[in-house]
Amino acid sequence: MRILIVEDEHRIANSIKKGLEQEHFAVDVAYSGSDGWDLAEGEEYDLIILDLMLPGMDGLEICRKLRRAGINTPVLMLTAKGQVQDRVTGLDTGADDYVTKPFAFEELLARVRALTRRPKVTLDPVLTTDDLSLDTKSYEVKRGIHLIKLTAKEFSLLEYLLRNSGNILTKEQIISHVWNYDADILPNTVEVNIRNLRNKIDRPFKGKKALIATVRGFGYKVG
Ligand code: CA
Repeated sequence: MRILIVEDEHRIANSIKKGLEQEHFAVDVAYSGSDGWDLAEGEEYDLIILDLMLPGMDGLEICRKLRRAGINTPVLMLTAKGQVQDRVTGLDTGADDYVTKPFAFEELLARVRALTRRPKVTLDPVLTTDDLSLDTKSYEVKRGIHLIKLTAKEFSLLEYLLRNSGNILTKEQIISHVWNYDADILPNTVEVNIRNLRNKIDRPFKGKKALIATVRGFGYKVG
């Protein structure tokens, strides 16, 4: 899952980025409203964390422009205490939720999780296909009763595949949801990570169904 943070206070932006990266999210940061708008409009994100008070273009304006442009990425607004009217306006302009500063990272994370789960029919934190399960809260991945250890990137990749179970995902889609803007993407980055993932979730389980399918010329599919 890939998240954009738009926040002009570097200390806050960087600490949220660090925290979310530890939780396996791919994170980009914009420190001004106009940079935030450029990224939000040009890249694909699963969630945007948007500070209200920003130099240049403020959070409300960005949110309004996004919705007008038909971009429905969930928006979590950061507001300061006392900005009650702004919060109401924020929700009216199309923000999905807000957190009041100062906040505990755990609270922000809980809201991030709720918003990134929203498109799913179920709010179950455990994603499954066949006998494979991935717990988005405890980070436990299992095939049958066997625990599987994944790297952070492999986990994100598998999570993205499972969230889109049944759909063919192109390499471009995978890259834009699993890696951030600054990541060094080589032409074979997706292949390498898919291969590593298969070596952990498919190859050791001989006699069981292979879970990741290659759809030649298109991409990859789970389920
Ligand atoms: Ca600010």
